[in-house]
Amino acid sequence: MSDVPYVEFEDADGHNPHRPFFITYRQTAIGVIVFIILAVSVGLIAGLTASGRNQSANITTTSMPLTTAVPTKYAALAKPRLPTSIKPKAYYYQLDIDMTKLNFVGINTIQFMVKSSTNIIIVHVSGIKMLSAPQVSNDRNFNGASTYYKVIDTGNYKPNSYYYVVLQNKLTPGTYYIRFNFTAQLASDLLGLYKYQYTRASDRQKIWAIASQGQDFYTRRMIPCFDEPALKATFQATIIVPSNYSVRWNMPVTKKTAIGNKMRYEHSTSPIMSTYLLALAVDGFTYVEGHTTRNTRVRVWSRPSIRNDSYFSLRTIINITQYYEGFFGIPYPISKQDHVAVPKFYAGAMENWGLNLYREEILTYNPYYVSSRLLKTIIVIISHELCHQWLGNYVTIQWWNHMWITESFCNFYQFYAGSILQPSFFLKQQFVTDSVQVAMLVDATRSSHPLVLPPNLGPIFDKITYEKGGSIFRMLRDYIGPANYHTGVKALLKKYLYSNIATEQVFQAISGAIQSPINISDFMGPWVYQMGYPLVTLIRHPGNRGLGIISQQRYLTNSSLNPSTDPPGSPYPSTFGYKWTIPIRYYNSGDKTTKLLVFDRTSASVQIGWPANTWIKLNTDEIGFYRVNYPTENWQALAMALQTDKTQFSETDIANMLDDAFQLAQTYRINYMIPLNLTKYLFKETNQLPWGVTSLYYSAMFQRLSNRGSFQYFSKYFQKIAAVQADRFGFSDNGNWIYKEARATVLEMACSTGYKPCIANATAIFKKYMQNPTANNIKGTIRGIVFKYGIENGGATEWNFLFKQYKQSLNIADRRTMLRALSATKIPWLIRRFLNYTVDPTKIPSSSMQTVLLNVNRNTVGRYFTWEFLRDHQNFLMQKFKTTRSIVRIITQNYDTPLLLNQVMNYFKMFPENSGSAKSTEASIIQRIKSNMQYLHRCEKLRYIIDITLEKVQPGAV
Ligand SMILES: [Zn+2]
Repeated sequence: MSDVPYVEFEDADGHNPHRPFFITYRQTAIGVIVFIILAVSVGLIAGLTASGRNQSANITTTSMPLTTAVPTKYAALAKPRLPTSIKPKAYYYQLDIDMTKLNFVGINTIQFMVKSSTNIIIVHVSGIKMLSAPQVSNDRNFNGASTYYKVIDTGNYKPNSYYYVVLQNKLTPGTYYIRFNFTAQLASDLLGLYKYQYTRASDRQKIWAIASQGQDFYTRRMIPCFDEPALKATFQATIIVPSNYSVRWNMPVTKKTAIGNKMRYEHSTSPIMSTYLLALAVDGFTYVEGHTTRNTRVRVWSRPSIRNDSYFSLRTIINITQYYEGFFGIPYPISKQDHVAVPKFYAGAMENWGLNLYREEILTYNPYYVSSRLLKTIIVIISHELCHQWLGNYVTIQWWNHMWITESFCNFYQFYAGSILQPSFFLKQQFVTDSVQVAMLVDATRSSHPLVLPPNLGPIFDKITYEKGGSIFRMLRDYIGPANYHTGVKALLKKYLYSNIATEQVFQAISGAIQSPINISDFMGPWVYQMGYPLVTLIRHPGNRGLGIISQQRYLTNSSLNPSTDPPGSPYPSTFGYKWTIPIRYYNSGDKTTKLLVFDRTSASVQIGWPANTWIKLNTDEIGFYRVNYPTENWQALAMALQTDKTQFSETDIANMLDDAFQLAQTYRINYMIPLNLTKYLFKETNQLPWGVTSLYYSAMFQRLSNRGSFQYFSKYFQKIAAVQADRFGFSDNGNWIYKEARATVLEMACSTGYKPCIANATAIFKKYMQNPTANNIKGTIRGIVFKYGIENGGATEWNFLFKQYKQSLNIADRRTMLRALSATKIPWLIRRFLNYTVDPTKIPSSSMQTVLLNVNRNTVGRYFTWEFLRDHQNFLMQKFKTTRSIVRIITQNYDTPLLLNQVMNYFKMFPENSGSAKSTEASIIQRIKSNMQYLHRCEKLRYIIDITLEKVQPGAV
């Protein structure tokens, strides 16, 4: 499954009346992380990831009342895992779907093996009502010739989502069948088998449709089943729907029969697979089609009005499938692949075998509506889901606490495969900024978590499980050698095909397949079983100018905490003392060949060759998952070397230096002069990576300083850096992908500093667009910037025009771009009216409130209206979302004075909420405001530093 790389999204018709938009736990986790990336302020991170993680782990699986009281009479029910006495072998199920009542009636026959004698059969169900007592037999047909086994008791055990069937006599080892007759309502929260509505473009009618999300505990909402990933079986399904709907299931249709005004679809039998991969889509969509060289039929399905936007994905899917088939040496196992652009979808995408489901904007590409960043996301997520067809579907994790394995394999391969097919995207290099640096930010708190979780916890869908794991595999690949790694992964696939793996089996399978002196299990242990990562500190050897000394300590954003101890009460105590064996790649100005030094975790320090009068760069291409701090003179020498000849460093090395330096400055470890010095050379830079890192820190500082006296110095400094390149890039659409992405980054920075030519260009293009939006349409790479600065520098006419465009658009990505732009107005009455629109469903769906609040809050004028909005609509928000704490979290992001802190604390007293998650959110909000106050104090000092730096920056010195 893929998370989405941004927090804001809305639906095709902008409406989802059912979803508690602000409180979905996984959404919150993603939101928290994205927020951290946006607001990389010191101390601000502490506490936040903790609450996000806790909420993400706090999973409930049942939404409908179950019928029977909790029994205590069967010991097996109290266990959170199913008994091992029974293993499913094959499922034969039929779902008859009623699109008027929005429910379904099902029959499910499960063939199972009894391994050891038992008289209790336990399956998972959630929200399912049995229509009759299940029958147990030795024959799949349940006819007169069958032997029946007498059922004496049945019922639900809600805490574990169990349904139990107790027999009079024990079943002895052998093969049996159980048949369930059941019914359920279609869910409305995007989990399990769920209903949603989309707007048909031709007549703007709302149409009901169905999609599904099985991972992790939701297939039990579709059918009674043994819903654990290791309990693999084959599946065969018959689906009955009204004739005017089309149906897709995991496997191809074998027979289609009309029954009155309904159609009955039979499908072929699936490969052996896990229950969480079962899927279903019922809708009125159309498709584009192609075939792979091995003749797998690939279809991309979407709403008919955007069918033509599916060709890009179709080509990408075919190419990447073919690539993986060659790369892994194992063919894709099903004769078809359906990929569906679902207007309302829970995650970014889901890799169900034969039927991949995506959030609509991630599977459809239109050059006018899709930004360069979203285009990259499309490629990367398709590449991720297709990787899972092998690592995830063929070979599956044993249990959810090992979920990092397949998510991390695919987090790495999604960039790797994508980079081979789309070289101009430089995806391998972008792994550093998109995965390594993102994961390091999240993993730098004491309340992080290890990759491998205790068996009773997890899965956790966050930047640790995906991005950190991907980064650790990338480091291992470099350490043992790419060829060895590849051999090891292929051996793993072969050995566990159609089976399951746990963490140690991965290390053993790779070890067993290669010749290497490295003990993979020993090396990987500290990286996967303990949280965090090291800060490597280099100093000159006091007695030998030709040497350096390297030490390590766990890196925590809060440098006042003890880095070597477990947090009090941690569920993840470390057995490695927060030390790691670190393969350190490095080079120096005298010898640019990269060398390798292995810093063993049992050594306090290690010596490194570092000739006198040279600069040294550790962590070549940020291949290792650690940060580096150098002596000040080395940082200065690196900054100087960049200005003299930046080609001495790769883009990833520059991005690495910038990220480490900004981080270390923000956490009080080095002087801010150091990262600012490193940015001076950007006059000469056209590559996205260094600009991307700089703009991230720039944005965070912008948010913190924009209403302070120091802002004038800050914006002048960054304007001088960005202006030269902004002029060079211009507002055209030329260049390859990475160039376009750099253009978007630089123009955004230049315009936000108030650079006049940038703003003049944006507003002129916007005015032309207003005259004729069709003839003067704006390409996605600069669309967001033109809209934003067109609105920011325009008046009510411009605003009303764009709002009308928003109302007319059915394109999800474009609607979001427009909402962001509309949030940029500086006119108070427009801001107030815009906020009020979010509580009027005829204007803006409440599901888009989050997008509006986030962006209005980034607006230096707008942020003063959001608190008033909260207070004015207190009752409405409580009614709609059942909590206001997530909204408070958004609108207090930049609060940084004692007065504002008091205001928030008084609010919590006046409107108390008593749930555990509300309390932890309150604590993290208060903690963040306090951290902001500290940061601001520091920024007063920063003002002088920037002032001094500014004098030294020579504009136009290219
Ligand atoms: Zn995934």
